[in-house]
Amino acid sequence: MKKLGLLYEGKGKRLYKCEDDDLLVSEFKDDLTAFNAQKKGNENGKGALNCQISTELFRLLEKNGIKTHLVETLSDNEQLVKKVEIIPIEVVVRNIATGSLTKRLGIKDGMILPFTLVEFYYKDDDLGDPILNDEHCLLLDLASESELEELKRLGREINSILKGFFLKRGLNLVDFKVEFGKDKDGNILLSDEISPDSCRFWDIETNEKLDKDRFRQGLGNVKVAYEEVLKRILEGNDQ
Ligand code: UDP
Repeated sequence: MKKLGLLYEGKGKRLYKCEDDDLLVSEFKDDLTAFNAQKKGNENGKGALNCQISTELFRLLEKNGIKTHLVETLSDNEQLVKKVEIIPIEVVVRNIATGSLTKRLGIKDGMILPFTLVEFYYKDDDLGDPILNDEHCLLLDLASESELEELKRLGREINSILKGFFLKRGLNLVDFKVEFGKDKDGNILLSDEISPDSCRFWDIETNEKLDKDRFRQGLGNVKVAYEEVLKRILEGNDQ
């Protein structure tokens, strides 16, 4: 599939048009950003790692009944995806308290949550991605009431599939962010990516962080951590 003009460039990916109007090419970049792009960096090969990790996870989710935008991979850092209209809501799912949750509510870092917490954030960089309740979503006309319920259900379902998958590979899935889009027939598809840029993984034995917190907190070895996540995903698949 031939890559045509650039349609959109985000912080982590570029989207290109292609010969088929219903499809796009998603190119994963090596750039790293944190704190609403106030901190910027670059890791050679990070885009390819995220592309491979996200492809494996989307395939796993598809196998378990979650509809996604993924069609196929085109190269190390490119995916062919279905064109969707992104719902501007970031769906964050949490198993363990850390990050903004602990800061906002004063919950102790590392506390295992008594139930899976699903939160919505407004995908708007100018506003700094503020947290939203259901009524805010309706007020802004971001989604209907039934779509909000669907987003929560999908977030929980994705969590239960991924949590078990990573537990078997010695990783705690602490939290993650997912985005959804609507295809031309109105189907809600899991879109964007699921990678160490958008998830937190803590090693079960050592609690070592194997995700973008290594970049956010300046812990170093960012690429080594992402490689370790990919290795565990692939090794586990052979068992
Ligand atoms: N997250 C993301 N993009 C964002 C905000 C959060 O991918 O714009 C992910 C983040 O990597 C983590 C989860 O969502 O896995 C929860 O992030 P949190 O709200 O704790 O935000 P942070 O502390 O990163 O600001």
